[in-house]
Amino acid sequence: MRLKKAEREQVRLKYGGHCAYCGVLLGDRWHADHLEAVRRNWGKEAKLAPALSPENHNLANMMPACVPCNLSKHAMPLEAWREWIAGHVNSLNNYHPIYRLAKSYGLIAETGASVVFYFEKVKQ
Ligand SMILES: [Zn+2]
Repeated sequence: MRLKKAEREQVRLKYGGHCAYCGVLLGDRWHADHLEAVRRNWGKEAKLAPALSPENHNLANMMPACVPCNLSKHAMPLEAWREWIAGHVNSLNNYHPIYRLAKSYGLIAETGASVVFYFEKVKQ
C-alpha cells in the first residue's frame, strides 16, 4: 500500500504543500492520510472487528497531513473528528486546571469558532 515517490509528491502538493486539515506548511515529515479510512471502524470496534475498505486506497482519497493531524484523526470519519476537535475546549475547561487558571488571567480567549479544515477553506 506504499505510494510511489511521484504519487506521494502529488499528494503533498494537493494543497500547495500545506496540511489539508490544519493548514500548516508541511516539512520533511508528513503523512499521506486516507480521507475515507481504509480501516473504517475506529475506537474499540476497530480492534475487535476492523472493517476494511481497500478501495479507499487511491490518490483521490489521499490527503497530505501533518503528523499531529494524522495521528489525531487516525481512522475517524471526518465529521466525527471535527466534533472531537471542537470538544477539546470543553475538555480543557473540565479537566485542565492550568488551562482554567490561564483563562482566568485573560491569557486565553475562546472564540467559539467552528472547526473548518484547510481544504474546505481553499476548495480546489
Ligand atoms: Zn495538520
